[in-house]
Amino acid sequence: MRIGIIGAGQLGQMLGLAARSLDVQCCFVDPSDNPPAALCGDVLQRPFDDADALLQLASDCDVITYEFENVPVAALQQIDGRVPVYPPPAALACAQDRLSEKQLFTRHGIPVAAYHVIDTRDDMDAAAKILGLPMVIKTRRLGYDGKGQFIVRQSSALNAAWELLGGQALIAEQWVPFDFEVSCIGVRNVDGDVAIYPLSHNVHVDGILRTSRSPLEAFGLASEASDYVHRLLAHLDYVGVLALELFVVNDTLLANEFAPRVHNSGHWTIEGSQTSQFENHLRAIMNMPLGSTAGRGHAGMVNLIGAIPQAIRSLTIGHLHDYGKVPRPGRKLGHITVVEDSADKRDELIDIIDTTVTRSTLTHENTA
Ligand code: AMP
Repeated sequence: MRIGIIGAGQLGQMLGLAARSLDVQCCFVDPSDNPPAALCGDVLQRPFDDADALLQLASDCDVITYEFENVPVAALQQIDGRVPVYPPPAALACAQDRLSEKQLFTRHGIPVAAYHVIDTRDDMDAAAKILGLPMVIKTRRLGYDGKGQFIVRQSSALNAAWELLGGQALIAEQWVPFDFEVSCIGVRNVDGDVAIYPLSHNVHVDGILRTSRSPLEAFGLASEASDYVHRLLAHLDYVGVLALELFVVNDTLLANEFAPRVHNSGHWTIEGSQTSQFENHLRAIMNMPLGSTAGRGHAGMVNLIGAIPQAIRSLTIGHLHDYGKVPRPGRKLGHITVVEDSADKRDELIDIIDTTVTRSTLTHENTA
């Protein structure tokens, strides 16, 4: 079996590593030099929407998947039909536009924060009146890790938000004073079998995921979150892994967005679950039986962003994953996972790792 993967970043690398134990070959398309997944298979070094590269992938592989959300849907549609493309391009198209994503949630009874579509400067004033302040202005397309967003806290900032983001399709969202954020990761295979992972509790810093922990202790909304993911998977006739990100506010859930791919908040599943999200994604798209999503204990993950400090490499706790990327501020370079017998012990180790990362970054900044 040969799987074609569009994108050869760290998610492609982790899919490629999981593929080895399933005796599956991977081939990637990615324009970058020496991307992380190069250690797991051949890379066609071409743009993601290069028609020739995608046709070659389609003729060389039994099934095609992708590891990031900004793959042009039209490019996928060119090869869908020649070879199965999973997750379905229609699911990707929906996730690429925050408006269609929210409409999908609402149609399936999944609550979202109040929002207002913004096409003109006047729409910004209307949004502020309807939603109140603060509100978050987001680009409808191509946003990730908090990029393409502006928090408007007072009406005097409306002009600045428009100057920065105006001229493209936007959406304004009511500010959600959330208690915390969770994600629910589910997987569905071609036959329609579904498995759901225990929820992750996620902490973002500056819009980028910093830590995930799973399972959540004594959390009453897990079955509701799982039910939402079941609805999305069924409606989209979905195949592969899907991650739904949710705000928890006053004991209710509000959906923020979904990712039609393996997800950073599920990296802990490599060591912390019976079957990782990466292996289950491959199993799903090859229509194999899904592996158990049961946890192996209390798992936690810290993202390593911008640098992998020597102090982190010197720690004797956790499983360090170094994606082999060139360091750059804000870039996800690796992560470290712990799996413990108790939530208290897990949290203690996550705090040590998190503090070590923060101290090393501050020391570096002070001496650089
Ligand atoms: P997103 O790109 O929509 O996933 O946003 C990145 C992060 O920004 C989220 O994980 C939240 O921490 C924060 N955020 C996004 N939208 C809102 C909102 N409407 N209210 C409060 N925080 C938000």
